[in-house]
Amino acid sequence: MKLYRMGSSGREVRDIQGRLAAAGFLDESCQEVSSGAFGDETDRAVRAFQQGRGLIADGIVGPDTWRSLVEASRRLGNRFIYLREPPLRGDDVAELKRRLNALGFYSGKENGIFDKDTALAVEQFQRNSGLSSDGIVGSETVEALLRLARVTKPTSVAAVRESEKGLPSSGLEGRRVLLDAGHGFPPDPGEVGPHGTRESEAAEFIVELLGERLVDLQAVVLYSRRRGEYIPDRRRVTHANRLAVDLMVSVHMNSSTDPRAHGASCYYYGSGNYVSPYGYRLANHVQDGLVEDLGMNDCRAHPMALPMLRDTRMPVVIVEPLFITNPDEEGLLLDKGFAGRVAVSVSEAIERYFCGIKAHAEG
Ligand SMILES: [Zn+2]
Repeated sequence: MKLYRMGSSGREVRDIQGRLAAAGFLDESCQEVSSGAFGDETDRAVRAFQQGRGLIADGIVGPDTWRSLVEASRRLGNRFIYLREPPLRGDDVAELKRRLNALGFYSGKENGIFDKDTALAVEQFQRNSGLSSDGIVGSETVEALLRLARVTKPTSVAAVRESEKGLPSSGLEGRRVLLDAGHGFPPDPGEVGPHGTRESEAAEFIVELLGERLVDLQAVVLYSRRRGEYIPDRRRVTHANRLAVDLMVSVHMNSSTDPRAHGASCYYYGSGNYVSPYGYRLANHVQDGLVEDLGMNDCRAHPMALPMLRDTRMPVVIVEPLFITNPDEEGLLLDKGFAGRVAVSVSEAIERYFCGIKAHAEG
């Protein structure tokens, strides 16, 4: 290409000036920009731009400086970015990689090159954000990334609640929620309590009451199985993916060989150093609710890599409100009021997840 320097003028100079202005190096309203003349101000701007980019700061726009100017004007969300040969480059790619890395999705070195690691990180992020995991970064993926920008390391509930400030407060209306009662008798009762209560039936009862609550809150509620029906977990996963729901709640009861073990726990997807940020948020809301509203012992929310959590394309939480092997807690399942209170607590937690209400009923 031709070289542009002090004294040059014309359409190309105007283009260069426009890009310098967009990158914040030149005042768009200055005399040189309106006349398209390469003078002192443009020279100063080019040198400052080159210096910031590790180029030789000679004030001359040649191929390297031109390519950098083009890359600098790429803003995340202004074009589709994805894996291709030769790889896409630009500041938008660098920003994407920075954001993915900050969220715990390893996207490779934080340069402006969209490589294989970046594509894998994008797919993983999409899958765990309930987006279709096509590896193409468009406006939906960018929006999801920006919403999560505040959560750099999800290690505490405080961080979860902080992240909600950036979420839209659109509530439960029209949200598609899939409810899954674990197991299914016959043939699979799940665990059976000391008084003979079947996990599958206790889960069905809670799921039914939870479904009614969610419908009251304007959600669209779908069920993975009918009462007394059994379907393998693999089919529950394909069902959830096909229905393209916003989230899935699977209800089970915990069990232990120690009859004293008691309390509530939740599970979300996590493997190695990766944790689903949405799954984490949802699980902690539900867990907090069970502990605070029902006074259950806090057995915490944990990351797991079960197929139901791993192979689903939306945030999923497995809820275990109690230990069915503990005689006292099994007794709670026979108390009609208890299942209703679990349903209220979990439905409100789901609402908080969608609403981004800062925190519920403190104290
Ligand atoms: Zn179970």
